[in-house]
Amino acid sequence: AKKQGRNLVKPFVPSMQEELAKRVRIEGDLRAAIRQGEIVPYYQPLVDLKANKIIGFEALARWKSASGDFIPPSEFIPVAEEAGLIVELTDQLLRRACTDALSWPNELVLSFNLSPIQLSDRLLGLRILKILGDVGLPAHRVELEVTESAIIQDAVTARIVLDDLVNAGVRIALDDFGTGYSSLSQLSNYRFDKIKIDRSFVASFETDDKQDIVIKAIIALGAGLGVMITAEGIEEQSQLQRLQDLGCDIGQGYLLGRPAPIEEITAHQVDSMQR
Ligand code: C2E
Ligand code: CA
Ligand code: CA
Ligand code: CA
Repeated sequence: AKKQGRNLVKPFVPSMQEELAKRVRIEGDLRAAIRQGEIVPYYQPLVDLKANKIIGFEALARWKSASGDFIPPSEFIPVAEEAGLIVELTDQLLRRACTDALSWPNELVLSFNLSPIQLSDRLLGLRILKILGDVGLPAHRVELEVTESAIIQDAVTARIVLDDLVNAGVRIALDDFGTGYSSLSQLSNYRFDKIKIDRSFVASFETDDKQDIVIKAIIALGAGLGVMITAEGIEEQSQLQRLQDLGCDIGQGYLLGRPAPIEEITAHQVDSMQR
């Protein structure tokens, strides 16, 4: 929805041409970057808000371009999908992330994002399981984050893929909850292990009483369904406090830890967590 809004306010032909030229440039660079392994996972901690400890990390793709700037995943993931590079990119990132996760204390979970288009590939589940097997990371240490739109797009295939994964012990999180179309019907159709409340709710919930009510209701829903609730985008102490008061299970956000490269994770975060 975010992206759509941005496109809608750009009706001029020159900016569309610019956009196109940028895409073509990114596509060429992306192909080379994947080949050279320049796109790597960063890791952001997932924190148990009741026990106050790290329970895992979400892998977030980072591409540091030749010029030294980071190109955000929101720019290159869609290009990878359109250019037919997403399978190669995902396999590479997942293999790397699983290898990194092997060096963490073994109760920590690796959470990995799948984009909607990937869930319409019925071999996806088996390919993911093959990578876990190759690397030697047990399936129960892996969680895959999917969005509602991914499930709606091709429900039959999504079901096959998710079943393959769930049957092997992989956990599934429903990402960006509250931003899609038919949230509630998806909840009864699938066995999700976790629901991630979209960052937009957390960002506005102190200034907007209604958001507070919405978050409260989602937490109650999670408790009723036996599904863990994660709140994303926690940036302020007051937000953290409120979520803890409401009984939210898991938190994620800059306040609790920014996405960081593997060297920093192993050097600091996991160490300090163990103490
Ligand atoms: P997401 O899965 O919703 O990931 C959360 C995003 O929120 C990340 O942006 C993260 O850096 C950002 N974030 C975390 N805490 C905070 C906070 O406290 N405040 C704010 N303002 N932002 C916070 P990022 O890394 O730019 O990723 C954007 C999206 O790109 C992700 O959204 C995910 O949908 C997609 N993505 C990232 N990595 C991958 C990947 O490896 N594969 C696929 N298919 N998609 C990916
Ligand atoms: Ca995610
Ligand atoms: Ca999210
Ligand atoms: Ca998102």
